[in-house]
Amino acid sequence: MVKHIRKCLSCNIYTLKVICPVCSNKTWEIRKYKFKYDDKYFRVKMKAKYGD
Ligand SMILES: [Zn+2]
Repeated sequence: MVKHIRKCLSCNIYTLKVICPVCSNKTWEIRKYKFKYDDKYFRVKMKAKYGD
């Protein structure tokens, strides 16, 4: 059973906790964050490659 790794975007650290142990901000599930990041990156990449 794999636990969801979470990331604090403020501290740039990985944790399994919902609340960042360093800054007490809410952490983000890596899968969700990665998807958002990949989607944005993909669109930028496509635009750069093929124009608008
Ligand atoms: Zn933090």
